[in-house]
Amino acid sequence: MSLTTNANLPWTYDNPPEWYKRYPYANGTCQSPINIDTLDTIPHMYPPFVFSSKYYLDHLFTSTNTGQQIKTTLFKRTDDDSDDVLWFSGSSLPGRFHFVDFHLHWGHNVRCGSEHEINGHRFPAEVHFVYRNRNSEHIAVLAFFFTVVNDDAHDHSEWKRYAEVVSQLMKAHSTTTCTFNLGQLMPIVNGEFFRYVGSLTTPPCTEGIIWTVFSHTIPIKGKSLNLLRQNVLGTAYRPTQPLNGRTIFRNYYSKYDINL
Ligand SMILES: [Zn+2]
Repeated sequence: MSLTTNANLPWTYDNPPEWYKRYPYANGTCQSPINIDTLDTIPHMYPPFVFSSKYYLDHLFTSTNTGQQIKTTLFKRTDDDSDDVLWFSGSSLPGRFHFVDFHLHWGHNVRCGSEHEINGHRFPAEVHFVYRNRNSEHIAVLAFFFTVVNDDAHDHSEWKRYAEVVSQLMKAHSTTTCTFNLGQLMPIVNGEFFRYVGSLTTPPCTEGIIWTVFSHTIPIKGKSLNLLRQNVLGTAYRPTQPLNGRTIFRNYYSKYDINL
């Protein structure tokens, strides 16, 4: 995930191990992403997420090619409180977290692309929905993996449209506006997720980020991912970082909980 707003920052996905030279946090001990070893997680029962009443409505967004990734934020209006409509609370997170942006990470083929891994398994892409608590400045990210499907019946129409729209942003700093429905983009169909504290996965790699990584995957056609790979960036993910003794919790009903 990232919160950087300066599109001219001199970093690329060609050399993530070198990021620390300019961004010292990248050499910290609580970095993201990580590999989640499900046998080394602690079961915990979290209260449910509570989303704002307008979360499941269509809203106008702005997607921008920052030069390093495509970032989608709420379209800025000056005549209303539109930046106050998308938030969540609950799930043991302190207070109300407002939507900041969402963006995808992907790789040059289906065997890589996700930032987090589950038991060493990499998914072809991963989306990060980024939120900020406006009082505490805490940042929380809700992350979902993608799986490639070949039949139209299981394709996700909202994500298909997303790929078609943002794949037109071939040049750095180009933008477009489009209507999306965050509730449809985020398939919280059950309470299966992992929770840990890590960092931004892009420079400056600031730590203290609360991660929620869902195990329910989003279906997407390979054609949609190809649109992104071929038109925007070939690769857009950071390799996994050392866990360094951190605790990873899993919501009690995770399908990975083989002892239930
Ligand atoms: Zn990200």
